[in-house]
Amino acid sequence: TSADIGVTGLAVMGSNLARNLARNGNTVAVHNRTPAKTRSLVEDFGDEGAFVPAESPQELVASLKRPRRLITMVKAGEATDAVIGEFAPLLEEGDVVVDGGNAHFADTRRRERELRERGIHFVGAGISGGEEGALRGPSIMPGGSAEAYASLAPMLESIAAEAPDGAPCTTHVGTDGAGHFVKMVHNGIEYADMQLIGEAFHLLRDVAGYTPEQIADVFGTWNRGRLDSYLMEISAQVLTHTDAETGAPFVDAVADSAEQKGTGRWTVQTALELGVPVSGIAEAVFARSLSGHGVLRAASSGLPGPRAEAMESDAAGRFADQIEQALYASKLVSYAQGWHMMRAGAQEYDWDIDLGAVAAIWRGGCIIRAAFLDRVRAAYAADPGLTTLLADEGFSRELGRAQGDWRAVVATATRHGVPVPGFSAALSYYDTLRAGRLPAALTQAQRDFFGAHTYRRVDREGVFHTRWGGDRGEERAD
Ligand code: NDP
Repeated sequence: TSADIGVTGLAVMGSNLARNLARNGNTVAVHNRTPAKTRSLVEDFGDEGAFVPAESPQELVASLKRPRRLITMVKAGEATDAVIGEFAPLLEEGDVVVDGGNAHFADTRRRERELRERGIHFVGAGISGGEEGALRGPSIMPGGSAEAYASLAPMLESIAAEAPDGAPCTTHVGTDGAGHFVKMVHNGIEYADMQLIGEAFHLLRDVAGYTPEQIADVFGTWNRGRLDSYLMEISAQVLTHTDAETGAPFVDAVADSAEQKGTGRWTVQTALELGVPVSGIAEAVFARSLSGHGVLRAASSGLPGPRAEAMESDAAGRFADQIEQALYASKLVSYAQGWHMMRAGAQEYDWDIDLGAVAAIWRGGCIIRAAFLDRVRAAYAADPGLTTLLADEGFSRELGRAQGDWRAVVATATRHGVPVPGFSAALSYYDTLRAGRLPAALTQAQRDFFGAHTYRRVDREGVFHTRWGGDRGEERAD
């Protein structure tokens, strides 16, 4: 009984997390269903810190100090239930189980409830940063009881990434599923960010006529400004890479059909249920999906329309600057949608989520880490009740400056036949919010016409119906 914490599930994420914990001075008991992985972890990295290898769940639990703290890093879904089922009977009241896998927040809510009934704290912790992050410092989004968080905080803070101001990239997000919910939204925003960068690439390549190398330079320049982010940086790196086999730009050697593991889809499904329009994230999920429909694309490749033609080089330079504006504005819209979703989730599930703190813990370690997130943090610090990020004074000023170029980019893309679902969905969202009157009035009238669904009026309180099939007189329907 000497270990500070246990880790079960020693694939890439679990073993890197265990090493990170050990490197930071914690004694870590390690276990994997297939014991060979436990042995090789200790053989290869045993000198990095204090590991206690365990061959069975019983051995792992027996090696932990009380109250026991155990992290499971196994495949999300049934495997997580299986592992919890195996460990729960071995644990006691007050022990803490952390699920660091990519669980759906609804599963986390269920597991938390089940374990709470046995007096065991269950912490669904979103972990972002991939395998490198797990080893060198991820962003950690724990949900669960405040008591459980307090018992984990020193350890989590020691292994989490550091934000540029030195703050650890972890905080108690909220109770039960809040951490995994927030992680899900993070991934949705990640999809949108990637799609927007992809659209910028597509336009720079086909309309500005730049080579991947030149685009890498443009991205490098943007990465030193307000678009400074990990995803921008790695995009530039990818674009300078040459394929060893063909000698061509690596990006040209990769099949243009994007895959997904499902967290983007979860975000959109959940958003639909919550009634939150996350159109930028949804378009990014659809864009990946459409790219993968090879048969459909082949059957449609003869459809008429313009083929992109490259511009003159001066015009291309100006266009690149406009794309920077469009990318920034569209990114801001996706983030506004993501934060709207977190606010709605918090309300629906009764979580006390500090929306500024979420931005703060995404400044380092995670895939969407970016200078921009400090601005989001500051926006919520200035006004915790902010209805939408777009209404923040600084952001709204920037949108004002960007919107002309943003429109020009969407128009140019459309003229050249280059799809920009992310840029244009974001712009439509922006214009919808700005609009004085929306055609939703006509929608309501149509609904009343075919289904007597009723409508409200602009000039009077109450609910009304028009007798469309009869004398077209209006009656009260409330
Ligand atoms: P995998 O998701 O590939 O899971 C493999 C691990 O799960 C192995 O340790 C395996 O044990 C164990 N496992 C599978 N089924 C069972 C079972 N029924 N009972 C016991 N153990 C089981 O590993 P990763 O390291 O990639 O990911 C771990 C978790 O972290 C996942 O939930 C993933 O979604 C999440 N995650 C992953 C990220 C990444 O970048 N890869 C980033 C953030 C989160 P065995 O060796 O015996 O097969």
